[in-house]
Amino acid sequence: MSLQRRLTLFFVLIVILPLGVAGFAVQRVVVNEISRRAVLSLAPALDATVALYKDRVEALDARVRGTVGLSRFSEVLSSGTTEEIGTFLSNRLDSSSNLDFFIAFDRKGRRIAYTSVGGDFVEGFPLPSADDIEAASGAGPGFISTSRIPLRISGRGLAGSLIGGSWIDQDLLLGSSQEGVVLSLAANSLVIASTADLDGQVPITPTHDDSFTADINGEAKARAARLDGGMSIVASTPTSPIEALSRRVITSLLVLLALAVIGTTLLAYLLARLITRPMEELAAGAQAITEGRYDYRITPRSKDEVGQLAGAFNEMSEKLSATVSELSMSRDRLQRAVHRVGETMRSTHDMGQMLGSLLNTAVDAVDADAGVLWRFTATRSELFPGSASGLDEASLGRVSVGEGLAGHVAERAVNVMMPGSADRLNPGPGEPGLPVVMAVPVYSQDRVMGVVAVYRSDSTDPFTQEDLNTVVFLAEQGGVAIENVMLHEEARRLSLMDGLTGIYNRRFFQMQFRQVLATAQRFDRPFSVLMLDLDFFKSVNDRYGHPRGDAILIEFAQRVSSTLREVDTYARYGGEEFIVLLPETDVVGARTTAEKICEVIRATPFGALDEEPLDLTVSIGVASYPPHGDSFKGLIEAADQALYRAKENGRDRVELATAPGSAGLRLA
Ligand code: GH3
Ligand code: MG
Ligand code: MG
Repeated sequence: MSLQRRLTLFFVLIVILPLGVAGFAVQRVVVNEISRRAVLSLAPALDATVALYKDRVEALDARVRGTVGLSRFSEVLSSGTTEEIGTFLSNRLDSSSNLDFFIAFDRKGRRIAYTSVGGDFVEGFPLPSADDIEAASGAGPGFISTSRIPLRISGRGLAGSLIGGSWIDQDLLLGSSQEGVVLSLAANSLVIASTADLDGQVPITPTHDDSFTADINGEAKARAARLDGGMSIVASTPTSPIEALSRRVITSLLVLLALAVIGTTLLAYLLARLITRPMEELAAGAQAITEGRYDYRITPRSKDEVGQLAGAFNEMSEKLSATVSELSMSRDRLQRAVHRVGETMRSTHDMGQMLGSLLNTAVDAVDADAGVLWRFTATRSELFPGSASGLDEASLGRVSVGEGLAGHVAERAVNVMMPGSADRLNPGPGEPGLPVVMAVPVYSQDRVMGVVAVYRSDSTDPFTQEDLNTVVFLAEQGGVAIENVMLHEEARRLSLMDGLTGIYNRRFFQMQFRQVLATAQRFDRPFSVLMLDLDFFKSVNDRYGHPRGDAILIEFAQRVSSTLREVDTYARYGGEEFIVLLPETDVVGARTTAEKICEVIRATPFGALDEEPLDLTVSIGVASYPPHGDSFKGLIEAADQALYRAKENGRDRVELATAPGSAGLRLA
């Protein structure tokens, strides 16, 4: 059963049950009241009948005396025959409308005449006999009578006595009968007369009270009053009208109840609908959220609690939607960051670019306002900003290891969050003074290589543990990338180095040459090339062996290096031939440098302490841009030709190129 049906049923029961109970209570009260009033309404008829009865009793003696004419009857009684006495009394009965019988007694009290008229009693009730009347004397079942009235004749004494009376029958009842009330006369439970057709028995037993009420077989309500001689008057009214009324009341009540049920059901249905509809809408909303439709909204229909609930739901789904999109944004951001780090690691072997990318990624990934990648100086005693994001690099300075936040991280190799970390740390003089900081060490091969620090300017927006995890992850990636870069740089360095002497090789020289040539051409500046070749080196090998020759080549390379500037490029060209590139140097300057080299080689014999000193010389050919050529090939050839001439001219000397070189001129 749906909630709506249950609620409807509940509301209907809540209204109908008390209504039904109240209705039946009212019905009972009404019916009881009606029957009470019906019983009360019996009293006037009953009282009137009793009054009538009393009138009759009171008037009886006078009426008998007035009707009979006592002195006349005394004469008849004392002198007449029984027949004459009977006739006399009969005549008196005929002329009276109010007397129904006479009984005459002689002087000795013996009954000599009894005259009566027929009474109007109910069927089966016999007329009271003279014996009954004599025995009851005064009043008995169905009659009232005088007591014996003595009859005297003046001078002669007692002539006899007389009793007169009347039947108590329908006449008495009809005199005070009323519409809707049945009057009955009963003698010891036996009905004598009634205004209605009764079956003789009135099943009520008079009590000692003068009046009482009774229920006659459930068919009538009755009230009774006692008369003399065991008689009583019963006023009754049938219960059928009361029952009919009660039925009418019940019927109306049922109709009312039915109407109430229909009305209540309708209202309850509407009420239940009113209550369950928002719940259905909420359920639909929850279902939508479950299915990931976070844009689902409920239309609030009111400002009450239900409306507030809808509002709260909408607010909840709005926040959920915002949180989900924020989450997916931050997931996207992290994905982008990871992608970018990977991309950078793959695409670049430039340390600066790599670190810059790592830093920007970290700043982006945790939504920081600024970031600095702190790197160690060569001595590892200080940190300097290797890369900065969202900050003016000029505002940053060096930070001593162990000092400030970055210095603390670099020294202890711990993660620091401000606010958040246990120790209260203050930024060093070279660090940004932003209130929210997170700093994480960057490792490469178990060695701290630097510190990634990210900053926020809003002190109420601290970094979370998740932010820390992200930056730690990126720092790990960065560490791996740094390692790669270093390996790469080492490999690259090795590929451009000469394995024996440790100076650059010919490949590197060629690369540098191209750069220097381009700069010189662009700014119209000179540069020169020196070609060096040791004199009679073959014989050194021959006399002292190849290993000693190698050692001499190493020493030679070092001596030449010491005469050169930082900007000069010095390389082993092949065998015992070397080459020097002198940027910003014209032919005159180049010659000077070459002479200096010759001097450095010539001045001191070669060899270690335990070795035989060896005097060596070098021959040098000089070619300059622009006079002797404007290409690698041209200038090298020009220098080579000059070197050749130096050998020709006796070695241990410097010769300048004379003209632009051309390939294939060298003869040796
Ligand atoms: P010159 O004055 O004409 O240059 O006479 P030279 O003997 O030096 O003749 P050249 O320049 O042709 O000599 C090349 C010699 O240099 C051949 C080889 O014995 C020696 N040499 C070349 N490379 C090496 C090397 O790597 N180690 C050693 N020990 N000797 C080398
Ligand atoms: Mg040579
Ligand atoms: Mg040589």
